[in-house]
Amino acid sequence: MHEMSIAQSLLEIVMDESRRHGLTRVDRVRLQIGALAAVVPDALTFCFGAVAQGTVASEAVLEIETVPVVARCPLCGERFEMEDLFDRCPDCGLVPAGMDLVSGREMTLMSIEGETDEDGETDERNQGACRPQHSGSE
Ligand SMILES: [Zn+2]
Repeated sequence: MHEMSIAQSLLEIVMDESRRHGLTRVDRVRLQIGALAAVVPDALTFCFGAVAQGTVASEAVLEIETVPVVARCPLCGERFEMEDLFDRCPDCGLVPAGMDLVSGREMTLMSIEGETDEDGETDERNQGACRPQHSGSE
């Protein structure tokens, strides 16, 4: 299943990010999916819920925004948003088969919201331990 493998790679990214930001619970994941990625948002939400079982993201809500396909006409260089895959170039009328697709296949993680343990209950392992503080980029 297409969405299942996407959900799996999405979970890996979410887990990486939540480790980096010290999240103990992920509440919300915002992502953009290109119209050409052929992802059914409901199916992805379902699959993500399945693969995220037992992780900090098990309760996370996915907010999926579908972004349009952007094509560039190789003939006249016009860039335009394709509303569907049968759109011709608005400028010269070239058929879609010849188009360079600039975007539309990708999945972009926009943001993750969640809880850190700092305003929650203290983890015992942190007491008295020297925890390196990272701020900003690494
Ligand atoms: Zn054109």
